[in-house]
Amino acid sequence: MEDGKALKIVNIDNHKFELDEKLLASVLNRPEIKNRKIVVISIAGAFRKGKSFLLGFFLRYLNAQYVRKDATNWMENGGDVLEGFSWKNGCTRDTTGILMWSQIFLHNKGKEKIAIMLLDTQGVFDNQSTMRDCSFIFALSTLISSVQIYNISSNLQENDLQHLQLFTEYGKMALEKSAFKPFQKLQFLIRDWACAYNYKYGAEGGKAMLDNYLKISENQHKELKGVREHIKSCFYEIECFLMPHPGLKVCTKQDFTGQLDLIENDFKLHLNDLIVSLLAPENLRIKVMNGQQILAGELITYWKSYVHALASDEIVKPVTMMRATAEASHTIAMSQAQELYISDMKKIVDSPNCLSYKDFNLKDAQIRTKCIKLFDSRKKMGDFRITQKFRQRLLKEFNDLVSIYKQGNDNKLESSRIKSREIYLRAKKY
Ligand code: GDP
Ligand code: MG
Repeated sequence: MEDGKALKIVNIDNHKFELDEKLLASVLNRPEIKNRKIVVISIAGAFRKGKSFLLGFFLRYLNAQYVRKDATNWMENGGDVLEGFSWKNGCTRDTTGILMWSQIFLHNKGKEKIAIMLLDTQGVFDNQSTMRDCSFIFALSTLISSVQIYNISSNLQENDLQHLQLFTEYGKMALEKSAFKPFQKLQFLIRDWACAYNYKYGAEGGKAMLDNYLKISENQHKELKGVREHIKSCFYEIECFLMPHPGLKVCTKQDFTGQLDLIENDFKLHLNDLIVSLLAPENLRIKVMNGQQILAGELITYWKSYVHALASDEIVKPVTMMRATAEASHTIAMSQAQELYISDMKKIVDSPNCLSYKDFNLKDAQIRTKCIKLFDSRKKMGDFRITQKFRQRLLKEFNDLVSIYKQGNDNKLESSRIKSREIYLRAKKY
C-alpha cells in the first residue's frame, strides 16, 4: 500500500484512555487536508470477525478510485496479498484501541473538497471486565464517524441490540443537550449470513430483515420496544447489509494472504456492492456535528472533547444490567437534588429571621426549581421514562420534607408574634 500505515490514535492501557493528539494532528492538520470536509468511516464489533480484513479491501478501492482515479477492476488490481490494517487467523486478542489509516483520500466534488478517513477498532465486546473499555471505543468511534459499521457474525440478535444501546447511551451522555441526533449513519453488516432463503444477500435483503427486526408493535415487551426506540432515536440513517460466507479457505488456510481465487465469488460480488454503497463518490457521507458539516482540522477538537467527556468520572460506568445502571445514575442525581433541598431549607429555618407564610412558600418554590434543575443537569443513563419516574419521586420527597421545615418556620413565626405582643404590652404599661 503506497505511503499508508495504521496509526494507533487511541490507546487503552490499564483502563486509562489516551488520545495521541500529536499523531492525529500530524495527519489532519496537513495543509492539503485540514480545510477539507471530512468523511469518517469506522468499523466496530467483536474481534476476529473480519473487520480489518474488510478494511483491506476498502483501502484497495479507495486507492483505485481516489488516487489512481480508475476503479474498474479495483479488486483484481491489488495482487495476492491484502494489505492495510493487520488482519490475521488465530484467536489472540489485540490490545484495545482505535487505529487510523495515515493516508487520507482526497476527492473534489465540484467545488466541494472532501477528505476520507478510515478507522479500525480493536477490542472485544463480550467480556464483562472490559465493558467500560468497549463502550468507550464504540461510543467514541460512533461519535466521530459519519458512518459506523457494526460488524456482526451470522445473525442479528437481541444482545447485539442491547450492546448497541449500552454503547450509544454512553456516547449520548458525552453530548450536551442538543436538538440533533447524536450519531449519523449506522451500517449493520452481517457476516456469514446464514438465512439467505429468508432474506437475500445484499442491501435489499438487509433492509427487509432490519425493518422486520426493528419493528415496534403494540404488544411487544417494553424492554424490546425501548431498545428499538432508543436505537432509532440515535441515528439519522440505519442500514443493513447481508454478506455471504467468504469460503472456508479464508478462515482456515494457514497461508491465506488474501488471494482472490481462494475467496468465494458470491462474497466478492457482494463485497463490491457494499464498498460502492459506502465509498463511491456519490455515496460519501460528510461528517456533520450539530447540524453543520465540519472540516478535517476541526475534527481534532471533537476527538479531544469526546475523549475527555467519555473518560470523565461524571459518567457512570456501564455495567451488564442496563436497568441497574439507569436506576443507579438516577438515584445519584435524585439524592444530590434532595441534599441541596435539605441544606437550603435548613438555612431558612436556622436563620434568626422568620418568613411570612407567603414568603416561605415562595422561597420553597424557588429552591425546588433550583433542585430540579440540578437533577436534570446530571448525566444519567436510561430513557425519558425513567427520568420522569424519578422526577415524580423527587417531587414527592420535597412534599414530605417541606412539612418539617414549615413547622420550624411556623414555630419561629409564633414565638416572634408572642415576643412582639410582649413588647407591645410592656410599652403600653409605661
Ligand atoms: P478482526 O479482529 O475483526 O479485525 O478480524 P480480522 O480481519 O483480523 O479477521 C479474522 C479472521 O477472519 C481472518 O482469518 C480472516 O481471514 C477471517 N475472515 C475475514 N472475513 C471473514 C468473513 O466474512 N467470514 C468469516 N467467517 N471469516 C472471515
Ligand atoms: Mg482487526
